[in-house]
Amino acid sequence: MTERGIIEKARKESRKVLTEIEAKELLKQAGISVVDTRLATSREEAISISQRLGFPVVLKIASSDVVHKSDAGGVKLGLKTANQVGKAYDAILGAIKKQYPGAKIQGVSVQKMARPGVEVIIGMSKDAQFGPVLMFGLGGILVEVLKDVSFRIVPLAPRDAKEMVREIKGYPLLEGYRGQEPVDVANLEALILKVSSFVERHPEVDELDLNPIFAYKDGAVAVDARVILGES
Ligand code: ADP
Ligand code: MG
Repeated sequence: MTERGIIEKARKESRKVLTEIEAKELLKQAGISVVDTRLATSREEAISISQRLGFPVVLKIASSDVVHKSDAGGVKLGLKTANQVGKAYDAILGAIKKQYPGAKIQGVSVQKMARPGVEVIIGMSKDAQFGPVLMFGLGGILVEVLKDVSFRIVPLAPRDAKEMVREIKGYPLLEGYRGQEPVDVANLEALILKVSSFVERHPEVDELDLNPIFAYKDGAVAVDARVILGES
């Protein structure tokens, strides 16, 4: 589906929240690297997609009504066999139906388990005064607890992206800390600029979250994506 098509489909269904699959498709078309993610609507389909992608895989709930998937028992990582995939499929649907009895469920997403990297996040929210603002930070507790993040107003110039990455206190972790491999910082800067131009081209997008992105010495890939649309 085209970028327009994905957004129009959500609008027609009166959904503001795109599913992870729709959000990733949209970002992929904007040149942003995401983990290839497919929708399964049955246990059997989840297994056959896993076999096609190759193990280990990750299964996640696909529902516009479930925004925080892992909090609700909606994410199963590192599945190595068809049997584990089948069990995870049932467990995810069981947990979600219990916690969100009214949720409209599109299915379960299937994706390859990405190799570990340094977790970073890129987000966009709209400020009443400044309009769209991008946020960059290191993922996990560094963002949640320490709020170690940097902000810039959209549209960003290359210099903004450079500064954003270097401003966070955790920047030494990206340069390679205590024997850890350094990550490709230039690639992260390019990614931030791609997100900025995506946001510029899509004023209908109200919120965006790439959380987490796994950063490597040779590139980066978003393993989760969230896109929320504003009033049409
Ligand atoms: P949530 O809706 O809870 O944010 P995520 O899709 O971010 O769900 O998944 C939760 C965590 O699982 C991520 O922060 C990441 O550490 C891990 N994870 C998710 N997808 C993958 C993947 N494809 N490969 C490896 N780890 C993943
Ligand atoms: Mg996430």
